[in-house]
Amino acid sequence: MKVLFSEEQLQQGIKRMADEINQRFSSEPLTVICVMTGSIILVADLIRRLEMPVKLGSVHASSYYGETSRSELKVDTSMLPDLMDSNVLIVDDIFDTGHTLSAVHQHIKPLGAANIGTAVLLYKHGRQELDFQVDFIGFEIPDQFVVGYGLDYQGIYRNLPYIGVIESQDLAENQ
Ligand code: 5GP
Ligand code: MG
Repeated sequence: MKVLFSEEQLQQGIKRMADEINQRFSSEPLTVICVMTGSIILVADLIRRLEMPVKLGSVHASSYYGETSRSELKVDTSMLPDLMDSNVLIVDDIFDTGHTLSAVHQHIKPLGAANIGTAVLLYKHGRQELDFQVDFIGFEIPDQFVVGYGLDYQGIYRNLPYIGVIESQDLAENQ
């Protein structure tokens, strides 16, 4: 595994994001929405650095192949608390084409929040297919497939404490 961001670097990036979020929302209550499953570790670390009263909710986003050959996104919002008139921050692991965060945003928009912000740990260069503004970004990365710190490859590697790029020998070891 090639390490892209060590544990220390990740914590520095998360502290930077938390400082910006604390500044933006000040002492106003904030409902943080974890986009499952990839952002679970990020959310756990991020909310412990937030200084306002925080509520926590989650949505599950998954892509599946519907009747067309194009991958479609399913967003399950059934686990959300009441968002009426609240400040909401949607947190995802990585922004790649932008379809996931945009779909989650579309599902949350009708639920009555006063403000909806977005945050991602990683933002991939040159992959965006939608004009969608992310408010808080941890790190920009080149177009590489990354794992660890919540991100998986075929369900594994989420528990790595760092972000890494899989090398061919890693795949051989996991066969
Ligand atoms: P998007 O919808 O922006 O194209 O992709 C976002 C989702 O695709 C992420 O939430 C994540 O689940 C997955 N994804 C995109 N790039 C990567 C990557 O480099 N590594 C991993 N593990 N997942 C990725
Ligand atoms: Mg994801």
